[in-house]
This record gives sequence, C-alpha cells and structure tokens, in this order.
Amino acid sequence: MVNKLRYAVGVDLGGTSIKIGIVSSEGKTLKKVSLNTEAEKGPDYVIKQIKKGIHSILAANKINLKGIGIGAPGVVTLKTGTVENPPNFPGWEKVELGKIIKKEFGLPVHIENDANAAAVGELIFGAGKKYNSFIMVTLGTGVGGGVIIDKKLYRGEFGAAGEVGHITIDFNGPKCNCGSFGCVEAYIGNQYLVNSIRNELPSHPDSLVNKLIEQDYINLTPKIIDTAAELGDEYAASVIKDTGRYLGSALASVSNLLDISTFIIGGGVAGFGKPLFDEVIKTASSRVLKPLQNRVKVLPAKLKNDAGIKGASALVYYVTG
Ligand SMILES: [Zn+2]
Repeated sequence: MVNKLRYAVGVDLGGTSIKIGIVSSEGKTLKKVSLNTEAEKGPDYVIKQIKKGIHSILAANKINLKGIGIGAPGVVTLKTGTVENPPNFPGWEKVELGKIIKKEFGLPVHIENDANAAAVGELIFGAGKKYNSFIMVTLGTGVGGGVIIDKKLYRGEFGAAGEVGHITIDFNGPKCNCGSFGCVEAYIGNQYLVNSIRNELPSHPDSLVNKLIEQDYINLTPKIIDTAAELGDEYAASVIKDTGRYLGSALASVSNLLDISTFIIGGGVAGFGKPLFDEVIKTASSRVLKPLQNRVKVLPAKLKNDAGIKGASALVYYVTG
C-alpha cells in the first residue's frame, strides 16, 4: 500500500529571523520564506510577521495540511501553547502563541522549545530515526539539548528538560548567560568560544587564524577555526580538541544520569566535524561508568539546511503519526 504524502507547516522562530516552510511527511521542504524577526518591536509585531509568513506560503500551496509546528526559544507550555521568557525577545514574559496561530489559521498548532523541536526533527526525519533513545545537542549561539526516551520527547515537569548547555563543568568557572557559573555553554557557546579565542590569539602570533581573519577580530568565526585546523594549524586544532573535551565531560554526566549513550550533535560548531566528534567520544567514554564505556556513540545531525523548519514541522508528525 502506498502511503499518501501529508504536509505540515514548520515555523522556526529565531532571534534574528523567522523561517517558515511546508514540509512533506517524507521530510522534503516544498516552499519556504524567511522574514526578519525584529524582536525589539515586541510580541505583537513578531506575531504579525509569523502570520504574514504562514499566509504567504499557504497562498501558493493549497494542499491538505495536517497542522502547524512551531519551534520557539524559551519554555513552552504544551496545553496552552504558551511561550515564556524567550531570551532576546523583549516583552515576551508569557505569550499564548499557539492559541493565537490556531485561531488565525484554523489548523492544529504544535509548539515546542526549539532545542526540543530539533530533537524531534532528528527522531522523525534524521539520524535518530533508528534509535529508541538519544540526546540531541545543538551547538549554536547557545548550547541546546533535547532528550528522547523510548521514541518520546522527555519534557520534564514544566517543559524545560534537556538543557545540556547548562550543566556545570567547572564549579568556579566563568559566568554563563543563564546566571549560573561554569556551564558548558559558557565554554563552547558560539559567543563564548569566539571571545576566548580572541583573548588567546595574541599569545599565538604564528597561528594561521591571525592571517585568515586578516587581523580583524570581527571576522573570527568557528568556521575560520575549522579552516585553519584543516590547514594544519596547531592552535586551531587545540581549540577544537578543547571544545570536544568540554562537551564530552558534560555528556558523560548525562550518560551516567540517564543511561543513554547515543548523542546526535548539530548546529554551527558541529561543523568542526570528525576531530570534534572523536574528542567528544574519547572524553565521554573515559568518564562514564564502566558498563557504559564502550557504548558511547556520537553522530552528526542529519538535518542541516532547513533543520529548524523541518524540526518544527516534525512536531506535527510526532503527534499525528
Ligand atoms: Zn548556564
């Protein structure tokens, strides 16, 4: 029997842009748009942008839709579709986004925290398809996480579970954006990583990184570090190794806590590729309890382009099957 393809709208609500697309039940993006979030204009404006984007793609695709999935920053309450305190969204103490979008379009709306949506995206369409349980880690501006147990997203009591980025790896470490100290994010979140390289570079005057950024720190990105390491630069290689060590130590704790040893890693910094993954496996394996030692598996995320849109649309298929 041939399954008829189904469709869902995925909305990836980010701090700088809102990406919206229609994704088939096979995981193909049919049409997409991107709008500026302009979060500083407050919730009413952002909601208007979301509605505008969804209307524009629906106008061109009059197909039988199963629903709308939204991946949003902050803590999400499923019952009401409420988004609470997303970082960098002024005025969003509590916004009933799910309700508002449902009313506008008359379709079921499934809303989740964006890191959780990324985990569901890998479960439905990506590298997590063949695993019962895994932890998804997204290495971006922040370090996000999502926990899948027995094919189900573990949300915790209030929907805030899976914050791998805020595991303390150094009791006396640097201050993190969340208010705590020594979180893994305070070492390997994009901004922190770039800042620490900026501080260290003057002590590595021969590093290729100096040349690649043309002596201008504004050009410093994780991608540059990757390029320099590939060209054999020792300092860049050491940055990637350290990143793997920080992440590997945090993941060892996660493994010990949950007895889950499969990790899927996505996001920009994951572009460091094999050298990063090798170091994460090495560190995590050496730190987990003995019975788990040979089981640690670290896989790259499969959803790359449109990962946010696909993860959001996967929320619909996760619920409707
Ligand atoms: Zn933190």
